[in-house]
Amino acid sequence: MYVKSYFCTFKLLILKRNYMSTLRFQAIKETLGREPIHVEEPARRSTIFGKNVFNEAAMRQFLTKDSYNSVIDATVNGSKIDRNIADHISTGMKEWAITKGATHYTHWFQPLTGSTAEKHDAFFETTDDGQAIEKFGGGQLVQQEPDASSFPNGGIRNTFEARGYTAWDPTSPAFLYGTTLCIPTVFVAYTGEALDNKTPLLRSLQVLDTAATSVAKYFDKNVTKIIATLGWEQEYFLIDKAMATSRPDISLTGRTLLGHESAKGQQLDDHYFGSIPTRALDYMRDLETECMLLGIPVKTRHNEVAPNQFELAPIFEEANLAVDHNSLLMDIMEKVAERHHFKVLFHEKPFKGINGSGKHNNWSLSTNTGVNLLSPSKTPKRNLQFLTYFINTIKAVNDHEELMRSSIASANNDHRLGANEAPPAIISVFIGSQLTKALDELEKVTNGKLSPEEKTDLKLNVVGKIPEILLDNTDRNRTSPFAFTGNKFEFRAVGSTANCATPMTVLNSIVAKQLIDFKKSVDALIDKKKMKKDDAIFNILREYVKDSKRIRFEGDGYGEAWEKEAKKRGLSNNKSTPEALKAKVSEKTIALYEELNIMSRVEIEARYEIKVEEYAMRIQIEGRVLGDIARNHVIPTAIKYQNRLIKNVQGLKDIYGSGFKKLSKEQMKLIEKISEHIEKINMGITDMIEERKKANKISSLEKRAAAYCDKVKPYFDVIRYHCDKLELLVDDELWPLAKYREMMMIK
Ligand code: ADP
Ligand code: MG
Repeated sequence: MYVKSYFCTFKLLILKRNYMSTLRFQAIKETLGREPIHVEEPARRSTIFGKNVFNEAAMRQFLTKDSYNSVIDATVNGSKIDRNIADHISTGMKEWAITKGATHYTHWFQPLTGSTAEKHDAFFETTDDGQAIEKFGGGQLVQQEPDASSFPNGGIRNTFEARGYTAWDPTSPAFLYGTTLCIPTVFVAYTGEALDNKTPLLRSLQVLDTAATSVAKYFDKNVTKIIATLGWEQEYFLIDKAMATSRPDISLTGRTLLGHESAKGQQLDDHYFGSIPTRALDYMRDLETECMLLGIPVKTRHNEVAPNQFELAPIFEEANLAVDHNSLLMDIMEKVAERHHFKVLFHEKPFKGINGSGKHNNWSLSTNTGVNLLSPSKTPKRNLQFLTYFINTIKAVNDHEELMRSSIASANNDHRLGANEAPPAIISVFIGSQLTKALDELEKVTNGKLSPEEKTDLKLNVVGKIPEILLDNTDRNRTSPFAFTGNKFEFRAVGSTANCATPMTVLNSIVAKQLIDFKKSVDALIDKKKMKKDDAIFNILREYVKDSKRIRFEGDGYGEAWEKEAKKRGLSNNKSTPEALKAKVSEKTIALYEELNIMSRVEIEARYEIKVEEYAMRIQIEGRVLGDIARNHVIPTAIKYQNRLIKNVQGLKDIYGSGFKKLSKEQMKLIEKISEHIEKINMGITDMIEERKKANKISSLEKRAAAYCDKVKPYFDVIRYHCDKLELLVDDELWPLAKYREMMMIK
């Protein structure tokens, strides 16, 4: 098969010899000529797992007992690490890293750009007497001051004129990346405001722990800590590096701004779960080895729906670590792609007419006693506990659906949400028929104290009937943005480029707030109405089931009928990012975060400002790139082809005299059509630039983003439409940009 394709290429190359100079044909040649690399599998993956992580095993070896205990205590209980101990830890960490070949260290953090940042410093230092030594003190471990004035800060540091510092987060272990020791850190302004995504996440996890643990005491006094667990699923595309380089839109924006759909796309569904192309498989193996070394527990890999689209998912972990691992993974994916001459596309919608990419966030709660709180069980008692967390989560999403929507809003994700392949911009919760039945029964619980008969009935027929394994495993409904899938909730609307910290912070916070309210209400019934604990819980859950009915939806989330129905139910449907983001700064949101001490008004407003500005900038960049490609690539190519046609018509005239008209009828039509498309493209670009100019003059960031969304962006479709028509008309050998079918030809 490989030989065959190589021969085809060879033929193609001979045919195209005269035009080989264009980037596109160079790219085709490179892509088709590329041999897979064939990566060796390490004998047993388990033997390399976590080898480059300063994990418990490494700490036991390199730390004193006191130091070790204090790191574990900080990880488990969030206790502070003494400065003297920090000196010991840093020495041990340095020794470990140096024995593994490290030369540098960095504080690794996640600024509000959503990606990761690092500044490397060498361990190497000179002493007063000119000796060279390897040094890394506790101070350098615990706190650093990166020159970070160019990170987005939403005005926080301008206002306070404060610098930022990074501080060690012992809950996420240090790791060795290449020859650099990376220390996961938070990034905070000297005035105390968080300048990163991690700090609010850590705060939300702590608040959730406290709230969820106090509720767990109703059921089991031994529960002293509850963690949120996250298992993300990363979707991505692979295209050949040479193809990507031939397209300025992919290079600069991560997606194709024009390009006609291929005659064969994903219609036949022959890629989904099909055999993985050899080159891609080699890439995955190499990637997975890197992940294993770094302690990222990658587990599944498979083809996705679209050609060249794949997915990778790990075993779930504690949410903070899982977020770090996802950020790290995206970085590793890009680096490994270089080795394999691939470009990995994380964009939510790289290709028109082909499925986009998401990053499902599977979320649950787990106790220190090893119980998954969102997993139904055999005993009615456990199931009442399950229902408590299950219903509280649904209620939380019901009360804060708009904030949930805002947590996944981005210019990229706008292309995906509401398109026919991804969840709609309306947040709803899917739970499946068995649990729907259970909640319907709960709704009938008597108001006030329950009779012994009713209690028995509930225990036997409602709570007791929730099976351990839900048969209609809710995966059947892929159209829901937030689905219960047997033992966890799956937030599916998250985009593939997203930093999971943002949606996870929202989910943790709203569930924490909900559990606090639940505890208060149940305690009030117990204290004031002298109800039994179980009666009180049933009474409050009944109210929640009633109050959150509108958010539950079991039908087709892609259908138009749901849009209408959702509107009736009063659910928000914020289709564009500027609209959706507003919920981030609503008074309701500010009250929520301030009450829980997760973010202050300043921190919330700063994040909003950054998001809104980023949106406008993204659309601005896309507009510029599209205008450039259309004017510098597409129009000149169309004119070149038109000139050939004109020459042809002239030639026919020379030979046939007045008979040429009949013979050149179709050519003439083509010549005119090309002119029409060129005119439309040019007009579109001129008008788009006018709108950009107007938008740039708007000083309010919010209004500017809205202008980019409503006034500038609509021209993209117009310009693209005419460019794509030209792609179909113009001689293939002249076309300068890699075509859809060519980008999808990885074998
Ligand atoms: P899917 O059909 O969606 O691929 P899987 O069972 O393969 O479902 O799981 C998908 C993801 O859910 C994986 O990343 C897995 O780690 C995660 N997951 C499973 N259990 C939990 C849990 N208790 N908490 C968080 N994530 C979980
Ligand atoms: Mg899934």
